[in-house]
Amino acid sequence: MDLFAAMKQYEHEQVVFCHEPSCGYLGIIAIHDTTLGPALGGTRFWSYASSDEAVTDALRLARGMTYKAAVAGLNLGGGKSVIVGDNKRPDREAIFRAHGRFVESLGGRYITAEDVGTTPADMAFIHFETNHVVGLFGLSGDPSPVTAHGVYVGMKAAAKAKWGSDGLAGKTVAVQGCGSVGYWLSTYLHKEGAKLVVTDVDEAKVKRVAEATGARAVPADAIYGQAADIFAPCALGAILNDATIPQLKVQIVAGGANNQLAEERHGDDLDRRGILYAPDYVGNGGGLINVYGELNGWSKDQAMKRAEGIYESLATVFRIAARDRIPPHQAADRMAEERIAAVKGLSPMAYRRRS
Ligand code: NAD
Repeated sequence: MDLFAAMKQYEHEQVVFCHEPSCGYLGIIAIHDTTLGPALGGTRFWSYASSDEAVTDALRLARGMTYKAAVAGLNLGGGKSVIVGDNKRPDREAIFRAHGRFVESLGGRYITAEDVGTTPADMAFIHFETNHVVGLFGLSGDPSPVTAHGVYVGMKAAAKAKWGSDGLAGKTVAVQGCGSVGYWLSTYLHKEGAKLVVTDVDEAKVKRVAEATGARAVPADAIYGQAADIFAPCALGAILNDATIPQLKVQIVAGGANNQLAEERHGDDLDRRGILYAPDYVGNGGGLINVYGELNGWSKDQAMKRAEGIYESLATVFRIAARDRIPPHQAADRMAEERIAAVKGLSPMAYRRRS
């Protein structure tokens, strides 16, 4: 891999390669853009097949965080780190303290948090070495109720754009994944009077949602073809692809899962079919808002209130899409880029950074 070419392609600021021989720690910290503030993004612990794969993942994820923070209106840039190895290994203190030292060495340009393969206990080890870590025990806590609240209000913004009213009572929503986000989203929708069709590969998770909301359960593969108004992906990424999109009978896709489009062109495909797609990183920004609240000492209620701004963010995305005659996933990117460019363009006299 030509690393500088990769950094130039998407304008990454910095990539730090980290090694601590005593415990075999290998890490990469990627900082994409700090125009809006310090780069915040979680630490992913994963057994990558090669160094190239690890770097590519770190670069891609870091850039995604820039866009997510920008559209959420937060004073944060985008970054992400990866630790290479078996995420079940037991010697966590050494690994995460080593990682924490490298995070500290960046002097606050990068703030880390949990991601795939890491837990609040791992963040506590990082915290022994640096204050530039969020998602700690006893602080902002489980982000999923806030994430789901943002997805819910975002779904209402999509309904308003599609049908002229944001009421969801009587609408049928097909929810894929009854885990943390899927559970909370289903309860919010049920409270408003939406009808629910749900699925999960874990029977116990389906049962919990069905009991709380009266949802009808369907097999995992059947969720795509449901005669529903809205499809809410809340499980895995890349589920909007060549095989699933032709099965969809819905008019809106709005859910909490990350990286729902298998490829960018699948966003175009949804648009061609008249299905309004609420770009995932705009709708699921509540999790990031929740940890941002931790940095700023917000209560859970304040984080919830702030997540309500996702309604207006998505309404703006749909307006830009209509204005520029582009699909919403491209409009979301444009909205993020416009905000970053506006802040970058401020004269030095107006320069003021808050966090
Ligand atoms: P979770 O692990 O609690 O729930 C995911 C659920 O999906 C599990 O119950 C799992 O059994 C189910 N699942 C897996 N494969 C499936 C399949 N093929 N069909 C149906 N169900 C399947 O995770 P979560 O925290 O609820 O996150 C869900 C999604 O939202 C993920 O993509 C995550 O990255 C994203 N997200 C979560 C948050 C958050 O605050 N938790 C924030 C932003 C984005």
